Amino acid sequence: DAVVYWMRMADLRISDNHALSLASSQAKKEEIPLIVLFVISPQDYKAHDRGSRRIDFTLRNLTLLRDSLASLNIPLHTITHDVRKTLPAAVLSLLEDWNCTSLYGNIEYEVDELRRDILVCSLAKSKGVNANFVHNKCIIEPGVVKTKESKSYAVYSPYQRNWISVLNENLDRYLKDYPKPHSNIDGIRDSNNRFSKLFDTEVPEYVPGFELDQDDKKIMANVWPAGEEIAHKIIDRFLHSKSRTSQMGAVDPLTDGAENSDKASRINKYGQDRDNADRDTTSRLSPYLSAGVISVRECVRATLKIQKSNKVDGSRETGIGRWVQELAWRDFYTSVLASFPRVSMGRPFLEKYAIVEWEAHQEAGDAGGNDIENLQRWKDGKTGYPVVDASMRCLRQMGWMHNRFRMITAMFLTKDLMIDWRVGERFFMQQLIDGDLASNNGGWQWSASTGVDPCPYFRIFNPYSQSIKVDPKGDFIRQFVPELSGLRGPDLHNPPASVAKKLGYPLPIVKHEESRQRALQRFKDAGIKK
Ligand code: FAD
Repeated sequence: DAVVYWMRMADLRISDNHALSLASSQAKKEEIPLIVLFVISPQDYKAHDRGSRRIDFTLRNLTLLRDSLASLNIPLHTITHDVRKTLPAAVLSLLEDWNCTSLYGNIEYEVDELRRDILVCSLAKSKGVNANFVHNKCIIEPGVVKTKESKSYAVYSPYQRNWISVLNENLDRYLKDYPKPHSNIDGIRDSNNRFSKLFDTEVPEYVPGFELDQDDKKIMANVWPAGEEIAHKIIDRFLHSKSRTSQMGAVDPLTDGAENSDKASRINKYGQDRDNADRDTTSRLSPYLSAGVISVRECVRATLKIQKSNKVDGSRETGIGRWVQELAWRDFYTSVLASFPRVSMGRPFLEKYAIVEWEAHQEAGDAGGNDIENLQRWKDGKTGYPVVDASMRCLRQMGWMHNRFRMITAMFLTKDLMIDWRVGERFFMQQLIDGDLASNNGGWQWSASTGVDPCPYFRIFNPYSQSIKVDPKGDFIRQFVPELSGLRGPDLHNPPASVAKKLGYPLPIVKHEESRQRALQRFKDAGIKK
């Protein structure tokens, strides 16, 4: 007999892992082996626009996990199964081979994944395997924080207020630290044990179809090193070390270690510094949270430790509170995804905007619509709008962008270029190392004014004033748009045509004021037609 924990792309850790912890307790109680299974599923990755960087990050984390698990005598068995439809049957057949009595996994809330797991549960039942799927991704699982009418929230602020009180009333439950797995039974590695060969399974270097070129692989390993230990160092850096002006690049948690300068620490200054997108002031934990390399509960527990408090601060007035509010956004968007599954099926939350007329649209794929050239210029960071171009080139180079730059570029695509938000959502997912369907969809639908609690369609960012506001000295633009590295002042944010021409920098592909009017009209028309 054996107990199996099925590890997924969003729970790549040993510590504070709900399903793993339960699986391990049961294996210990019954004195039977625990096996960890990971299924690489290229067809799934393709269908869900998983980027090569995210896959590479997964494999790098799995390689470390394999060793940490092996030190507890627990095998990590990695298989590749291409065909999505037959994946549940393939997993069940492995479980049968292993005489598995119980299967554990953490719930994934995306529609396809929920459907897959429902099928797994019914197949497991028919084979006498006890399947258990538990909540782990969020601090408070979807479905708990509800309105007075017992409905799901579609507006963030009241959700957040309720969320913080539910959390503070049930700290033991929602901030529980699930114990690390026990060592596996003695003798599992002995040559006569039928599970011993599972320790020989290697984690592949790459997944065919998702290879990273060698230079990119090196950059990613430098900027986003893998492993739980690193993730903990990154949060320590955010909680304890001072803010500093810095170019975007590697997080460098080792040299920028804890200084214990609490008042000036990054987190305490987060409230005032978080929108200074030109500086490295946010936690930079999103890749680790999205892949589950660090637990979101651990992040909140860490804030309690530095405050020496037993009440979570979720206020706007403190840096800690503002940061906790961002973690609440993550819970909120996951809860939206679980409550309104249409958002993960390519539909707008506000259905009236399903008929907005886009210049390039999703149904026809990247090749659809009229404005393919503009789409390509946006992707390449060659729109002639320095802040947009710097942000898109940052995305290409780092696989990551500051939240404000994500908003600016998403708003530019959907309002200035009037290109379907789903096209941008897809491109971000393919490029981001922290790609998460719920947060990415939430961010895109916010910017496109089609989502829950969206930016109203008539509040269109002006890329020039945004640029001056969030990158006042222009350091960010100069770092990512080398053509403009010699410019200072207003010219940098909006280069005059003669200067741009001389520097080989493109002229703006649209006129902001004209495209703004077009967007207003298109949204008005959609509202009226409805
Ligand atoms: P911090 O400011 O330190 O925040 C801490 C954590 O809170 C983040 O790591 C993240 O987990 C969470 N968080 C912060 N802001 C948000 C937010 N607005 N929505 C949801 N969670 C948030 N975030 C992703 O993790 N994956 C995505 O695919 C993603 N796509 C986005 C697309 C668009 C168009 C927009 C506007 C936002 C998107 N975000 C996404 C949210 C946000 O931009 C990133 O989480 C944030 O920039 C990560 O940087 P950080 O870890 O330094 O964040």
